[in-house]
Amino acid sequence: MKTIKLRDGKERSLLRRHPWVFEGSVASGKADPGETVRVQAADGRFLAWAAYSPSSQIRLRAWSFDEAERIDAAFFKRRIEQAVAMRTRLPIASDGRRLVHGEADGLPGLIVDRYADTLCAQFLASGVERWKAVIADALRDATGTQRLFERSDAGVRELERLPPVTGWLRGDGDTGVTIHEHDWRLTLDVAEGHKTGFYLDQRDNRRLLADTVRHFGCRRVLNCYSYTGGFSIAALHGGAAQVTSVDSSAPALARASAHVALNGFDPARHEVLDADVNQTLRECLSSGRRFDAIVLDPPKFAPTGAHAERAARAYKDINRLALMLLEPGGLLFTFSCSGGISPDLFHKIVAGAGLDAGVDALFYARLAAAPDHPMTVTFPEGEYLKGLVLLRR
Ligand code: SAH
Repeated sequence: MKTIKLRDGKERSLLRRHPWVFEGSVASGKADPGETVRVQAADGRFLAWAAYSPSSQIRLRAWSFDEAERIDAAFFKRRIEQAVAMRTRLPIASDGRRLVHGEADGLPGLIVDRYADTLCAQFLASGVERWKAVIADALRDATGTQRLFERSDAGVRELERLPPVTGWLRGDGDTGVTIHEHDWRLTLDVAEGHKTGFYLDQRDNRRLLADTVRHFGCRRVLNCYSYTGGFSIAALHGGAAQVTSVDSSAPALARASAHVALNGFDPARHEVLDADVNQTLRECLSSGRRFDAIVLDPPKFAPTGAHAERAARAYKDINRLALMLLEPGGLLFTFSCSGGISPDLFHKIVAGAGLDAGVDALFYARLAAAPDHPMTVTFPEGEYLKGLVLLRR
């Protein structure tokens, strides 16, 4: 077993059980990609067992802080069983659910989503890449599911010098899946959709939109960055008379239209706009079009803190425009999935947007990812999805 020694003082984050060690904290030692190493402090004491990533700035990702624990097939079986068992205790109103959420489940770099009888996994770091076959077997044993599709085509793999890989890892067949979420059905394709095919993290926020639209009697709903129309279906379910889905992806919008039909809604209640959201918001403003509820769920404007300033301006701009398009009494559901924007900063940005818009609004709710995407006390980076609901006075 190879040993990696940290610089003096750099043991602090592992002692706080944060699973990452950056390149600059390493004093000595080297290993192969994904190899398990013993990490020790400058004074020689044991800190963690970790996976080594020779080319990433995140040089080490901790598997375990317990010196007695062995990192072997049984370890992965245990961690995956724990992650799957935890989900059975959570209130998840869907057969589409995240089973493994990386660091938060003690498996850094591994994402596994379950869509009905199909699993879809992303191996995003050298450690989980090395243990792929063991992990695939453990997933099959823990879920009884024979179909596991791999979507290791996320950009972050480049930082690990890992090539993009997609395809069936176990089982085969149709990559199209239907899930039953809350009171509606949605479809996705694990081979083609964003991430593993779908945005499971917004599940409970879609429910809240449906309930809110019903409660407030919202008639016209604008769903910006709609992707395949999850929020649009929720709004229709809540009784909205007219829902507009805006996205720049034609295939995503085609699926949104298919979802309207699949759920038995009159297609006349749903409009799709294959357009840039920024431009659409401006056009609505100048044409006098107004809405009773607006959803803003943009892609990651700031993947890291380094992009925060530019991203903040972009968030402020779309939120300002959206607030101006709301009827008095209307609601804005606004989100940021940027790791580089903290919940506090997002709150400030949206408040600033309200001031600039000259709109008086109250913060009606604070939202986060659904509980199968857990946030943990040791890993603040896990709190990536933030949402606010504003009620215009
Ligand atoms: N709300 C969705 C997820 C949104 S993902 C859900 O719950 O499923 C972000 C979406 O924004 C993607 O579908 C992407 O195609 C779209 N997008 C990115 N930039 C855009 C732009 N400038 N204008 C319109 N859509 C955009």
